[in-house]
Amino acid sequence: MIIQRVVLNSRPGKNGVPVAENFRLEQSTIADTVQAGQVRVKTLYLSVDPYMRCRMNEDTGSDYLQPWQLSEVADGGGIGVVEESKHQNLAKGDFVTSFTWPWQTAAILDGDSLQKLVPQLVNGHLSYFLGAAGITGLTALLGIREKGHVATGANQTMVVSGAAGACGSLAGQIGRLEGCSRVVGIAGTDEKCSILVQEMGFDAAINYKKGDVAKQLRELCPGGVDVYFDNVGGDISDAVISQMNQNSHIILCGQISQYNKDVPYPPPLPADIEKIQKERNITRERFLVLNYMDKQEASVLQLCQWIQEGKLKVRETVVEGLANIGAAFQSMMNGGNIGKQIVSVSK
Ligand code: NAP
Repeated sequence: MIIQRVVLNSRPGKNGVPVAENFRLEQSTIADTVQAGQVRVKTLYLSVDPYMRCRMNEDTGSDYLQPWQLSEVADGGGIGVVEESKHQNLAKGDFVTSFTWPWQTAAILDGDSLQKLVPQLVNGHLSYFLGAAGITGLTALLGIREKGHVATGANQTMVVSGAAGACGSLAGQIGRLEGCSRVVGIAGTDEKCSILVQEMGFDAAINYKKGDVAKQLRELCPGGVDVYFDNVGGDISDAVISQMNQNSHIILCGQISQYNKDVPYPPPLPADIEKIQKERNITRERFLVLNYMDKQEASVLQLCQWIQEGKLKVRETVVEGLANIGAAFQSMMNGGNIGKQIVSVSK
C-alpha cells in the first residue's frame, strides 16, 4: 500500500534554528497484510512539540529521548483510526493513540503499543487527547500538583511563562482551579495576552517583547511570586525568579529559550539569580511528566471533567496536511501557535 511519510532531511546543528526544510515528505509503502497482534491505522492527528528540537540533534542530551535518524521517518504523539485489526482488543473503527506514532498517512503498528480512546470524554474533539486531555494537560496538572505546592486559601500568586502555549495556557487555568488567588501570564504577542485575560481567566498578561518585564511583574505581582510555572528559562525566568518570595516554588517544566543552544538541561542559573534562589529557599526541581504515568488515568479523567464543565478553556492551532508538518514545527518554535499545535493529516 502506498503512503506518504515525513523523514528527517537534515539536522539544524546543536546551535542552529530549525526550519521546515529539515524535514522531507516522500512516498513509501507499507505491507498489504496485517500480522497477528498488529493493526493498520489511518493517521488523523499528529502533535508537534518543543522537545522534538532535541530529537533533531545526533545526541539528544537526555537518556529518555532517542534522536531521529536522517532519512528515517520521524515520530511523536499521534492519533488515528483502526482500519484493519488482528489484535484481540482492537476493532475496525476504534480511535487509538501512541507517543511514538510515525509521521505517515497510514501505518501498521503493534496493537499492544496503542491506547484506545473514548471520544465522548472530550465531547468528540479527538485531537484534545494530544493536548489538554493528553500529555500536555498532564504536564500542566501534574507539574502543579507535584512541584507547585499550591494550596486553596493560601493567597498564592502564580506566574506562567510561555503562557499562551499548549502547557502554559492550561497551567494558568489549573493553577487557579487548584487554589491560586492571582495568575499572571507572560507571552510573545498582544493577541496572546488578550486571549489569556479575556478567555482563559488570567488576571493579567505581559508581552515580553514589549517593555520591561521586571517592572511590569513588580506592578502586577505586588505581593511577590509564590509559584512560577517555567516553560522558557533565560532572561524571562531570571526576571521572575528575582521577584519570588521566601520558600516559593518553581515548576521547572521546560526551557524553550535555550533549546537552540548547546547547554545542559536544566541550564544553570546565572550566579546572581542562583544566589537569590538559594537565599530565598526557592525550590527548582527537575520535573518530567513521564515519571508520573501511574497518575495518568485519574489525571486525564480530571482534565476531561474540567473540559466538559467548561472550566478549562482549550485552544488549538491546527495545520492541515502532513506535507506541512515541518512548517508547523518551525512556526511553533517561533511563537506561531496559540494553545496546542496540531497537524491534521486526514484532509
Ligand atoms: P508551546 O508553549 O505551545 O510552544 C512553544 C512556545 O514557546 C511558542 O509558541 C513561543 O510563544 C514560546 N517561545 C519560543 N521561543 C521562546 C523564547 N526564546 N522565549 C520565550 N518564549 C519562547 O509548547 P509546549 O508544548 O506547551 O511546551 C512548553 C514547554 O514545556 C517547553 O519548554 C517544553 O519542552 C516543556 N514540556 C515539558 C514537559 C515535561 O515533562 N517537563 C512536557 C511537555 C512539555 P511566545 O509567542 O510566547 O514566544
